[in-house]
Amino acid sequence: MAGEAQPDCLFCKIAAGEIPATVVRETDTTLAFRDINPQAPTHVLVIPRVHYPNAAELAAGDPGAAADVLREAGEVAAREKVDGSGYRIVFNTGSGAGQTVFHAHAHVLGGRDLQRLV
Ligand code: AMP
Ligand code: ZN
Repeated sequence: MAGEAQPDCLFCKIAAGEIPATVVRETDTTLAFRDINPQAPTHVLVIPRVHYPNAAELAAGDPGAAADVLREAGEVAAREKVDGSGYRIVFNTGSGAGQTVFHAHAHVLGGRDLQRLV
């Protein structure tokens, strides 16, 4: 069923505590942890506890959880003190865009000069 944990999903396993992660914040519906291969001084992933393959499908299937992920991205930025200097929220969608883990997640990047993409 939509939103249910997937047995072979890395981020479902992290959400369940079966694989360790450096957790920076958690709520009933989300988990935020440091990216294992950081691309900026602050590089935190915010995931919903429910499983959807990407951000758009999350928003369609569970709009509340999608809003929670976005709110938590802002909370992480504040906690990491990058809200003043600016930060970027990225949702890679599809392998052509660099998505490698097909459980919706927001990258929160900050703490260095982030070149403008668009
Ligand atoms: P994406 O390429 O947008 O799907 O993002 C997946 C991210 O997950 C990458 O930036 C990886 O570095 C990160 N990642 C993969 N495995 C782990 C892990 N065990 N703990 C934390 N981050 C991870
Ligand atoms: Zn998952």
